[in-house]
Amino acid sequence: MVDLKSQYAKIKQEIDAGIQEVLDSTVFIKGGKVNDFQHHLEEYLGVKHVIPVGNGTDALQISLMALGLKPGDEVITPTFTFIATAEVVALLGLTPVLVDVDPDTFTLSLSAVERAITPKTKAIVPVHLFGQNADMEPLLALAERHGLYVVEDACQSIGSEYTFSDGRKAKSGCMGHLGCTSFFPSKNLGCYGDGGAIFTNSDDLAAKARCIANHGMEVRYYHDRVGVNSRLDAIQASVLDVKLNYLEEYICNRQKAADYYDAALKDVAGVKLPSRSAHSTHVFHQYTICLDSSIDRAAVRKKLEEKGVPAMIYYPVPLHLQKAYRDARYSDGAFPVAERLAATVLSLPMHTELDEEQLAHIVQSLKEALS
Ligand SMILES: *Cc1c(COP(=O)(O)O)cnc(C)c1O
Repeated sequence: MVDLKSQYAKIKQEIDAGIQEVLDSTVFIKGGKVNDFQHHLEEYLGVKHVIPVGNGTDALQISLMALGLKPGDEVITPTFTFIATAEVVALLGLTPVLVDVDPDTFTLSLSAVERAITPKTKAIVPVHLFGQNADMEPLLALAERHGLYVVEDACQSIGSEYTFSDGRKAKSGCMGHLGCTSFFPSKNLGCYGDGGAIFTNSDDLAAKARCIANHGMEVRYYHDRVGVNSRLDAIQASVLDVKLNYLEEYICNRQKAADYYDAALKDVAGVKLPSRSAHSTHVFHQYTICLDSSIDRAAVRKKLEEKGVPAMIYYPVPLHLQKAYRDARYSDGAFPVAERLAATVLSLPMHTELDEEQLAHIVQSLKEALS
């Protein structure tokens, strides 16, 4: 699904030199490399503040803590996504309110969000799933009308760009009150361990998030609020600072692979290709097709595997049907789009190192598996 080895081989000298520099300096926590990367990422994103943290899940948790939400406050988030969003909401004693997604973009459905708003709603957490931004302009307008915070989960979408109706462009994660990303190795900007970051244009929220990520401390050993310990370390920052220079090239490679899949699979019966939003570029963290419900997906996967082609199911179970999150409010069938997607999606290999030969083999294998 990913090829981090070939990617590393191409940038080995720069990466190794960066890591060596950290080893020689023995500044492993905070310090120059972390600050350098933070400023370079702020510049790339065009956002006022980047707050590096330990991972993407922490970024989400610290963001919700920075908003000062209280137990019982409702947070709206899609049911078709990775577990992290609902997890941190639950851990903070907030109430996750799940909504269905759009069948074409896999991102949250605006009308579903509108219906889910109650007097207890405090925040919306859109997830820019698979690398494409949710339709943010109407979502931000809806949030503003109801006085709600928006925290973007941009863990899969770093570098993706959204265009507003007045032509203004913004990078993924930089449109809401706060945005979160992950530098998990397989993410579009991945380090060689764990890492994450929060983005915001608000000085106030940035100060709160920084303080929370550092044990709730502004002056050393004086703790003004309950915090956590969540840091990006200097070795990971040095890796990221190198890879950030290649991010646009990496995105381009992913988009080229997606274009190849689109062209090669467009006439294959029973396959629905991932749609491209009119408002957002797609950075293809995943290239996810939907198979017709009459097709035996497990059998297709097995045949692909026999040909050496990995294919993954992101995600097989929507949040409302996960054992730990079962809730009397949501029965089977509560979110028909998410449930259909969970049963029919298939993600094909997608990374920065795919060449035409590999893509041709994947496509040929898929066609054979479907015939
Ligand atoms: C990866 C991911 C996360 C969590 O990131 P970690 O760094 O693994 O904690 C959260 N949300 C989404 C959508 C993700 O893909």
